[in-house]
Amino acid sequence: MKSRTKVVVIGGGIAGCSTLYHLTQEGWSDVVLVERDELTSGTTWHSAAQVTNFGMNQTMVGLKTHSINLYKELSEDPEYPINYHHADGGIRLANTEEQMMGYRHFASMARGMDVHFEVIDAEECARRHPLISTENLVGGLWDPLDGDIDPAQLCQALARRARNAGAEVYRNTPVTGLTQHKDDTWTVHTVKGDIDCDIVVNACGYRVNEVGAMMGVHHPVMSMEHQYFLTEEIPAIKEAGHRMPLLRCPISDYYSRQEKNGLLVGFYEQGCKTWGMDGIDPKFVNALCPDDLDRVTDVLEGAFARMPALMEVGIHTVVNGPITYTIDGAPLVGPIPGKRNAFCIIGLRAGLGEGGGHGWLLAQQIVHGEACYDTWCLDPRRFTGHANVELTALKAIEDYQNEFRFHFPNEHRPAGRMAKTTPLTPVLAAEGAEFTVVNGWERAEYFKPAKEFHPTHTFGFDEAEPVVAAEVKAVQEGVGLCEVNGFNRFELTGADAHGFLDRMFCGLVTRREGRVGLGYLLNHHGMIKGEATIANIPASDRGGARIWYGSAAASEFHDMDWLTSHLRADEDVQIRSLTNEQTILVLAGPKARDVLSAVSRGDWSKGAFPWLSVRECFVGIAPATVMAVSFSGELAYEIHVPNASLYAAYLALREAGEAHGMRLFGARAVESMRLEKGFHHWKADLITEYDPFETGLNRFVRMDKEFVGKSALVERMAAGQKRKLVCLHVDYADARAHPGASVMVGDKVVGTVTSGAWGHRVAMNLAYAFVDRDVAGTGAQLSIDICGDMAEAEVIAFGPYDPAFEKVRA
Ligand SMILES: Cc1cc2nc3c(=O)[nH]c(=O)nc-3n(C[C@H](O)[C@H](O)[C@H](O)COP(=O)(O)OP(=O)(O)OC[C@H]3O[C@@H](n4cnc5c(N)ncnc54)[C@H](O)[C@@H]3O)c2cc1C
Repeated sequence: MKSRTKVVVIGGGIAGCSTLYHLTQEGWSDVVLVERDELTSGTTWHSAAQVTNFGMNQTMVGLKTHSINLYKELSEDPEYPINYHHADGGIRLANTEEQMMGYRHFASMARGMDVHFEVIDAEECARRHPLISTENLVGGLWDPLDGDIDPAQLCQALARRARNAGAEVYRNTPVTGLTQHKDDTWTVHTVKGDIDCDIVVNACGYRVNEVGAMMGVHHPVMSMEHQYFLTEEIPAIKEAGHRMPLLRCPISDYYSRQEKNGLLVGFYEQGCKTWGMDGIDPKFVNALCPDDLDRVTDVLEGAFARMPALMEVGIHTVVNGPITYTIDGAPLVGPIPGKRNAFCIIGLRAGLGEGGGHGWLLAQQIVHGEACYDTWCLDPRRFTGHANVELTALKAIEDYQNEFRFHFPNEHRPAGRMAKTTPLTPVLAAEGAEFTVVNGWERAEYFKPAKEFHPTHTFGFDEAEPVVAAEVKAVQEGVGLCEVNGFNRFELTGADAHGFLDRMFCGLVTRREGRVGLGYLLNHHGMIKGEATIANIPASDRGGARIWYGSAAASEFHDMDWLTSHLRADEDVQIRSLTNEQTILVLAGPKARDVLSAVSRGDWSKGAFPWLSVRECFVGIAPATVMAVSFSGELAYEIHVPNASLYAAYLALREAGEAHGMRLFGARAVESMRLEKGFHHWKADLITEYDPFETGLNRFVRMDKEFVGKSALVERMAAGQKRKLVCLHVDYADARAHPGASVMVGDKVVGTVTSGAWGHRVAMNLAYAFVDRDVAGTGAQLSIDICGDMAEAEVIAFGPYDPAFEKVRA
């Protein structure tokens, strides 16, 4: 066994084997995999191993395409061919028009990744899958490349290729401990000796937290028991003369695929069970949980009704094994928060279908610092702090119960709610707030007109849109108040703080006391990494001069890692997170100054406190830090208040607001208004796939200074831009353009939507999209595939509302 290597991958299931193989593909051959037992002896060996192309966003679709292409190549390798049923085809069923509309959106989104799904009616479903009845069936989504693979052969093939490229695999070598050294390298302790390495990867499946504990980390991953059975031969399958397509049913929560001349049918029952919460037997190796078909009778009936042939055949094998889930159902693939040189590829609930792609994206991140797609939807740092074991269990159960039921826009599921609240949460609830969840925080989405107001779950505009319109109108004509909780906020102090930020931001960083600026951080490839406001707060009785760095909710761990990893040992900079200590109350509208002046002493006139100013004060009796910034495009103030004083500030503002008819507004109104103003959203419009020029942020880049990512940006500039972010006026009244929707010219995909909302003040359906350069000019006539309808769309200038920015400066 080697005593020193570059990377140690811990775990030899699909996650570990794929990572090892792809590290060699990225050019790193001095890499090692250690497995406590035999390869695939965790979950992988007994997987149903279906391999679909379907995903909820383009990153997921892209990584699944990678799996499919890789598996096909492996299956055709003459030296070590493996069994892969490629392109049997698969159907996701639907029994409502709303589900069909959703499928049309996912087809539009996948088209941008050159993946071609079909939305078919019930008769066509039955024609393609002769075993199914069309009762209570509206139709389905056809995935032409759906199939299944032999999981053990797949892992062996990947390990074999990795070994051929120089990697080593040590079986029967449990990892027993991990030590990180001062220089951020690691020693991996195993029963067979120690291995020193630069980087460790946790790929330990359901034992993820045994290894997590060795580095003092708890990963929000939970195992669930999951069952399928295999039937005896079904004569109709033999007679069909072709392989049966795969089925996935969101109506009765089961899936099926052909296995020999019978079927494999798996279930996602409502009475599901977590597994291993109080520890896992060390001898649970190549093992299964006891059969428990009684638990799945509710969903079994649905499967029998859809495929009556199932009632005629016997069951010859039942498989019940642990499968892992995270809080939002997507895996955790990337850097481990708060750790250096440590990565994970865990929480895979569809690891056979996705594993090829996840290993690919992880290897790219390890070797190059970033992958070819923006991987935020997989980033382990997307949950900050609240992701404990109990919450993870509740969300895992909910996700399991809804396995094939995709989230509709504005659908916020009930499990594990109230994970993060402020003193205002019950107050806003009493005011009728409908809450959405942002990184665990309960955030008011809008205020319901009646207690029993439950808009339809749909991809179209729902019944809440007029409510949102009324909130926008109140802000535009008078004044509104909105709580923005969970907003990320770091306090930076120290003599070198400005110099440090100047190196991190690609634009000018304001040093003037009492002023606020906006800036962008690039990664080492010159692409957009982050966006933050910088507020220079003068010294006061609350502390010395300090900088507040404010960025999107959920960015806390991500931005902290990025900033601290660039701090030089000799730099005098301290960074402290205030994210959970402070909340923002946004006061917006032409009467905002009147309300603020009524509750806070001092001169709030335009001359004394202009746009982009920051000042400490009191709002009523609550200490506050006020910034004159606006995301809505109206005159507005962000009032930052410590949570202990939040209710006091709220009461004072409500009382003062009465004279001006102040109204509460929520996140949906904000979303509509920010699109009208041309403002961006981190991880929607600001992603690592584009540089600041492609994103239209030219005025925030200063090429006459040094900054992280500059040399790569210079190279990109020389190569020329690929795509450009544009604003589109969409001629369509039934639905917004959903993120991911394809932008077209004729039959050709020329771009992808990143954001969309109805702009109530400009009476326009608005969208942002990255489109090919040659169609990015103002006035270009494009179309957007909105849930199967081709909507005409014209490129317009960003920010059609108050383009001269007179209102925010009023
Ligand atoms: C019944 C069932 C059906 C499924 N069907 C499908 C499907 O149709 N399609 C699909 O895509 N997915 C399916 N899945 C999910 C899929 O099987 C898993 O996502 C996948 O196998 C997870 O692989 P992994 O490598 O993350 O974990 P594992 O396969 O569990 O591998 C983890 C490895 O880490 C090793 N390890 C743990 N601790 C240590 C240590 N201390 N030192 C060294 N090694 C260690 C373990 O021994 C193990 O080999 C199914 C799962 C189940 C249970």
